[in-house]
Amino acid sequence: MMRLGGKSVQNGIALGPVVVLKRQTEPVRREKVSDVEAELEAVRTAAVRAGEELWELYDKALREVGESGAAIFEAHRMVLLDEEYMGSVCDRIRGDRVNASWAVAVTGEHFAEIFAGMDDDYMKARAADVKDISNRLIRILEGDSEEDAVIREPSVIVADDLSPGETVRMDREKILGLVTVHGSINSHTAILARTMNIPALIGVPVNLEEIRTGMTAVVDGFKGEVTFEPDEETCRLAQEKREEEREKIRLLEEMKGQESVTAGGKRIRLYANIGSVSDVEDALENDAEGIGLFRSEFLYLGRESFPTEEEQFQAYRQAAQRMAGKKVIIRTLDMGADKQADYFNLGKEENPALGYRGIRICLKQPEIFRVQLRAILRAAIFGNISIMYPMITAVEEVLQICEIMKEVQEELEAEGIPYRCPEQGIMIETPAAVMISDELAQLVDFFSIGTNDLTQYTLAVDRQNEKVADFYNPHHKAILRMIEMVVENAHRHGKWVGICGELGADPELTEEFVRMGVDELSVAPAMVLQLRRKVRELEV
Ligand code: PEP
Ligand code: MG
Repeated sequence: MMRLGGKSVQNGIALGPVVVLKRQTEPVRREKVSDVEAELEAVRTAAVRAGEELWELYDKALREVGESGAAIFEAHRMVLLDEEYMGSVCDRIRGDRVNASWAVAVTGEHFAEIFAGMDDDYMKARAADVKDISNRLIRILEGDSEEDAVIREPSVIVADDLSPGETVRMDREKILGLVTVHGSINSHTAILARTMNIPALIGVPVNLEEIRTGMTAVVDGFKGEVTFEPDEETCRLAQEKREEEREKIRLLEEMKGQESVTAGGKRIRLYANIGSVSDVEDALENDAEGIGLFRSEFLYLGRESFPTEEEQFQAYRQAAQRMAGKKVIIRTLDMGADKQADYFNLGKEENPALGYRGIRICLKQPEIFRVQLRAILRAAIFGNISIMYPMITAVEEVLQICEIMKEVQEELEAEGIPYRCPEQGIMIETPAAVMISDELAQLVDFFSIGTNDLTQYTLAVDRQNEKVADFYNPHHKAILRMIEMVVENAHRHGKWVGICGELGADPELTEEFVRMGVDELSVAPAMVLQLRRKVRELEV
């Protein structure tokens, strides 16, 4: 039994088998082999296994994002079935009498170079497919555990660190708990764990060489502890605690269908934050009154190319229809900083949190933005959709958005495509936006305060940096005063204002927020009923 402590980012108890996720960091080594047949057999077995993984990924993508999103995995399978590619790998093993991983690595590089040098754009793009399939084969040959999405049974995931893209790619039904060596409480990976209600620990000093896939682990998100190979007593206590938790959740059931109104008669709307269409079910299950933040950029993560207008339209339409008339606030893509996808080619930046992210990308590359706006406007006829823009710092940005929005509407009009122009708001998550919130309030329909970034930018504390985590204090007076100021400015101009940052879910502040006049709190789905109980107990 081995017990280790860390920082909890989501409460709860998880008990189950471990899957260790390791990144391929070691370069592949060339080794002379004596048993050529064994290497040939190994590469054939790896190809079968890779084929199975690709089928699973294809199936998952087909269900979640549709045919066009799934096509990439079919392309990878084609590489695997390509006789020239596999023939070349086998020839190299035989000819050079080298290990299979080396033969795959060299063949992959060689084929990728040939594709990259072609004139045709489609063929050029195949270079990435060859590289991907080669990496997959090497990972299997090197005996590393399944990467991202291929987790075969509900498991506790143990990793050095997880990016939001890697987390999004995992099948949430199969994640019992998350344990990482690095990471920060305010990162988007932690936010995802909270949205999905998965017990999660970060900063756990696990030696990934000692922990093996298949071991058992108990994650205690209350204590911030993980126990590997627990004894019977630890398992019994974990099961008991898990039962207690379930009982608490059962008790919250009585809050379903109740109004979110204080004993003194003041109403506040309790919405849910989501990152994907499948999270809508959690929002409904927890009786959220709407979706206050759909982090649409998660549709862009964990994939190889931009989601098309059609894919996005389907996602937004489904969310709106499932919410059946309740509000769904779609935040336009907030890429950059910790949310990276290779195909955006964002490049390396010294200070990514202060760099090319959020609305800045949309305004500099309107061709990306327009596709999303078209999809949202088209979906808006199927439900109660609103749009919200992230990372606003200036009036000029809002005016530019209005221009682009106008052009997109004219375009749809000219093409005879049905659409509706929804309510539009902005996130208040920079100190600049707070200070000019009186002017901004005159340009938009609502505000939603993003306390995660507002804290980062106001206190000059990188929300991703573990070293300064102790300085990240969203309860700081400066933040609370800013929230108050924003509420006053919004109301002075007849606009409503919500909080969609993590602070909105803090029950210690619910009373203060209600007193300030905050109109809406948007929180992780699992927090909605708890907050409703809190609100109903308040005298305000
Ligand atoms: C925020 O900054 O508070 C917010 C809600 O947006 P995100 O956490 O996605 O940056
Ligand atoms: Mg933000």
